[in-house]
Amino acid sequence: MTVTLPPYEDVVARYEPVIGLETHVELGTNTKMFCGCPTDFGGQPNTRICPVCLGLAGSLPVANKAAIEATIRIGLALNCTIATWCRFARKNYFYPDMPKNYQISQYDEPLCIDGWLDVEVDGELVRIGIERVHLEEDTGKTLHVGGATGRIHGATESLVDYNRAGIPLVEIVTKPIPGTGALAPIVARAYVTELRDVIRSLDVSDVRMEQGSLRCDVNTSLNLPGEEWGTRTETKNVNSLRSVERAVRSEIIRQASVLDAGGRIVQETRHFHEDTGDTTSGRSKETATDYRYFPEPDLVPLAPDASWVASLKESLPELPRLHRKRLQTEWGLSDLDMQSVVNAGAVELIEQTIAAGTTPEGARKWWLGELARRANETGIELAAVGASPAHVAELQRLVDEGKLNDKLARTVLEGVIAGEGTPAEIMTARGLEVVSDTGALTAAVDEAIAANPDVAEKIREGKVAAAGALIGAVMKATRGQADAKTVRELIISRLS
Ligand SMILES: [Zn+2]
Repeated sequence: MTVTLPPYEDVVARYEPVIGLETHVELGTNTKMFCGCPTDFGGQPNTRICPVCLGLAGSLPVANKAAIEATIRIGLALNCTIATWCRFARKNYFYPDMPKNYQISQYDEPLCIDGWLDVEVDGELVRIGIERVHLEEDTGKTLHVGGATGRIHGATESLVDYNRAGIPLVEIVTKPIPGTGALAPIVARAYVTELRDVIRSLDVSDVRMEQGSLRCDVNTSLNLPGEEWGTRTETKNVNSLRSVERAVRSEIIRQASVLDAGGRIVQETRHFHEDTGDTTSGRSKETATDYRYFPEPDLVPLAPDASWVASLKESLPELPRLHRKRLQTEWGLSDLDMQSVVNAGAVELIEQTIAAGTTPEGARKWWLGELARRANETGIELAAVGASPAHVAELQRLVDEGKLNDKLARTVLEGVIAGEGTPAEIMTARGLEVVSDTGALTAAVDEAIAANPDVAEKIREGKVAAAGALIGAVMKATRGQADAKTVRELIISRLS
């Protein structure tokens, strides 16, 4: 059955979307939330486990102080109130990757409540309300094998890896976000981006969506203007910033087509598919009563000391939005130029390149030019393109010293990306250095003059602008390695 979906612009002209985001962040603590097992990503399955995170009878959890501290710092950075007293709760549900058949989480007594995060969308600040920030433990991972898709359907076996079970997980829940209209998908993406940057600045998680240390569920509903908010769906499996935007957009269109046909939106979880960009129905959404929450009897309540919280607040770093403002001033960029740096994901890269000794212009030229182009072409993030800030700083230094011109530098950069070494190493190994030695260039200049007598005559008559043709000939003869300025001087001196 093919359903013709209404165009997005048409949908958002008739319906008002309300979005909400639930983000899970795996903390980068050394050990798990309630035991001493290591938390490193990867590793042989079921090697980072113990009786506590396997939920064996008689084992008892002990809360990880570093995880609590990290959660409070996230809460403070998001302008939340920190609870003076709160408890962990058992969230009961049966799932093979949950060894205890319950998850230790927080329910009606979260550690941090009622904050906000300002995000910039098209130059305007949008304040996103934060409902709560709470601490829980991650589940293990189920792997379905023997089928074509890696999904449970068609699989012959399901394998469970408990290495991830018990890793501290912070859940950050926004308040519902109404009133964003057609911009809802962009606001959702901007929020997750800003949240990621805030958490990265706190140095409490590596927040890598592709590795699952930052995971996002997107709630979406539609209503007609003036009417109550609609029933919301929760889209899971949203594994990149781009997918956050696509998931909201596609769910807005899907819900509109259901409503247009007189249908009803079912409260459910839906799965986002990276390949097609649409969502399919998951399970009908449990309500809180299904989880039979009750206070975790194996753990004492959490009562963070006010002076401890105050000292954590005191030690918060400069947050990303203010940091970017300061950099913009230091780098002397317009709002628009700074926006393109932010959009390219190049703020930190440029910052580090400048710290390695380059001017802001020099750093920006490479990251937003050649390297951004390559990242776009290959569909990878700028930071993963294969050149480091130190490489770029060295490359620009060689240009500034006159050892490379821009064209040669681009060739050297290709070598850096290909993993051939540092810019200086590649320049030497490939013999790419600019030739400015007059002795070495004189022969090439004389040949160019001999081969282009008409041009030479013009220059002799004082038409210096004609020298360009001869410079071009010398450049060609020296495979672009001649120093153009030296060549020009040689030509003029030989023809005057
Ligand atoms: Zn353990």
